[in-house]
Amino acid sequence: MDVTVAADRAALGKARDALGAGRIALVPTMGALHEGHRSLVRLAREHADHVVVSVFVNPLQFGPHEDFSRYPRTFDADLLVCEEEGVSVVFAPSAEDMYLPDRQVEVSAGGMGGTAEGAFRPGHFDGVLTVVLKLFNLVRPDVAVFGQKDAQQLALIRRMTADLDVPVSIVAAPTVREPDGLALSSRNRYLSEADRRTALALSRALSAGAARAQAGPAGVLDAARAVLEEAARFAPPLLLDYLILADPATFAPVGGDHRGEAVLAVAAKVGATRLIDNMVLTL
Ligand code: AMP
Repeated sequence: MDVTVAADRAALGKARDALGAGRIALVPTMGALHEGHRSLVRLAREHADHVVVSVFVNPLQFGPHEDFSRYPRTFDADLLVCEEEGVSVVFAPSAEDMYLPDRQVEVSAGGMGGTAEGAFRPGHFDGVLTVVLKLFNLVRPDVAVFGQKDAQQLALIRRMTADLDVPVSIVAAPTVREPDGLALSSRNRYLSEADRRTALALSRALSAGAARAQAGPAGVLDAARAVLEEAARFAPPLLLDYLILADPATFAPVGGDHRGEAVLAVAAKVGATRLIDNMVLTL
């Protein structure tokens, strides 16, 4: 069956009702779809009869000096991907359709929204949670799939569904990487060849940290930091925003004697592009 494109909320309502019986899975995206997004859709199909993909570059989650206006928009190619992957509905609203001009109320990500990624992107997670809750209310899915690539976002969405009694099951999808380790991202298309060589330090740092998991938190962080410090001397240099070893559910940094699961997360700028990556380790 062909994919139905819903360009506004009214069209989404009709398309959603036309799906009839069966479980619905939602895969929220900002478009510029790649293999990582495809893997989310495939996982969604395992959990539901119908998959709805949203393609929406959400202005609320971008800071004033971030890349909202130059974020890649490749809707025709995205539609082909969705068709190939058996998606039932693509919801691609405009910002004007999504947000009322006199809107007031937003979701707050709380303290968890101000740590790690949130410390560098004030308001980012409030914007993410607000749009995700709106998408949940509009699509009314049984399940929604999010990538481990955005580990803090995943943790906050789980927190929101628990704290606000949102009746949607959250499924996490593993991070899809290039053969050399670089995590796929819509922003990778901004990277020059030299940028890309430097950017490889993110995944190499995480692997170096993972290899020292038996050494405990200090050993993990030291091993990862050594790789990042070396890349700070590359051309172009890697400019580190943060490297943390955190509780995967709360994103609070783990203590020096922590054992068990922890997420090693990194964010850095390479050239004009900001990249994030993470790995879940067992210490
Ligand atoms: P985005 O379009 O970047 O907002 O991402 C939409 C969804 O795809 C989010 O749940 C991301 O975590 C997920 N995602 C992005 N990159 C990857 C990747 N390399 N592997 C798996 N999931 C990803």
